[in-house]
Amino acid sequence: MTDFAATRALFQLPEGVIYLDGNSLGPLPRAVPERLRRTLQEEWGEMLVTAWNRAGWIDLPRRLGDRIARLIGAGPGTVVLGDTLSIKVYQALAAALELNPERRVILSDTGNFPSDLYMAQGLAAMRGDGCRLETVPPEAVAEALSDEVAVLLLTEVDYRTGRRHDMAALTSAAHRQGILTVWDLAHSAGALPVDLAGAGVDFAVGCTYKYLNAGPGAPAFIYVAPHLAERASPALCGWLGHDAPFAFEPGYRPAPGIERMRVGTPPILQLAALEAALDIWEEVDMAALRAQSISLSERFIAGIEASCPMLELASPREPESRGSQVSFRFEHGHAAMQACIAAGVIGDFRAPDIMRFGFTPLYIGEADVDRAVSLIAAIMADESWKEPRFQARGRVT
Ligand SMILES: *Cc1c(COP(=O)(O)O)cnc(C)c1O
Repeated sequence: MTDFAATRALFQLPEGVIYLDGNSLGPLPRAVPERLRRTLQEEWGEMLVTAWNRAGWIDLPRRLGDRIARLIGAGPGTVVLGDTLSIKVYQALAAALELNPERRVILSDTGNFPSDLYMAQGLAAMRGDGCRLETVPPEAVAEALSDEVAVLLLTEVDYRTGRRHDMAALTSAAHRQGILTVWDLAHSAGALPVDLAGAGVDFAVGCTYKYLNAGPGAPAFIYVAPHLAERASPALCGWLGHDAPFAFEPGYRPAPGIERMRVGTPPILQLAALEAALDIWEEVDMAALRAQSISLSERFIAGIEASCPMLELASPREPESRGSQVSFRFEHGHAAMQACIAAGVIGDFRAPDIMRFGFTPLYIGEADVDRAVSLIAAIMADESWKEPRFQARGRVT
């Protein structure tokens, strides 16, 4: 059983702020600044270039991959860090397409994150062989599986509504039709228990700056099932994915296994931050985290529905069908969220009308939920969101 009061003390959170947006950018773990100071001063500052060996920088993407693997039901040596999630989507998708060469369709759903869909569109256009992306509503994915589909590309938890796909069921349904699967775990890793090996997933990708709290710009991760790892082509053939990077051969030869999914020089400062952030997860029991996340979300929904009749639940009502976020529709959602943020309740807004609140038991408790509900209820009741200062939109919503 995890002591969530103890994990809360491991984060720096501004006084008076209730942070319900860890699903977009996790807060700063208190251990990160000291870890960064060490990496800067003792490693970069003192060891200079020798730190690649002496401080083990070169192995960080694999070493931290093994620690993330534990959180997503994957074995050691199946996960590596690097690049951004969009790039890892591209690599996984390209590799999966090449492993299913007779087929031309990438199937996804209309709720998927646009960058995942854009990467699929760009890849299909570049292949120029009739390969195309098809999207269907999330509820229609199972029936759209056919022998034309090469790859099923899905995000387990919908970024807008929090709706959760049944990963195990859809993966086996896809496999029965000869389809490979790419699962995006952006809103799953660190949010709920994931069992990639148990579900038989082929490829998975995810980011580390959301629920894993590694900071803005932290690198993504990619998983390749062990039975595919020696056959998967990385699509982006960078030197650090080469079998012998320091032989400097003119021709590309992929490294064995998951290492081939590396591309170029890894972001060491961000990986150092990630390493410190991952220490927190050593203490966390994922089943307990999930139970507490459901309990907080249920409490929030009940509180909002009792006090804010103008907000309409956009997330599934059944907790098992949700990730760790709760969304409500409101026509003036952007202004209302600006008013919430001004009152100290930080969530975010997703067009056209979604107010999104993430629940992260590591640092959010019942008292925070109750206080957030009463602050939101006050804003909705007195319509203070109508004030002119809440109408401006920044570049990031
Ligand atoms: C957050 C998120 C991304 C972001 O991709 P980056 O390349 O890291 O900016 C992509 N896909 C999904 C599903 C996301 O939730």
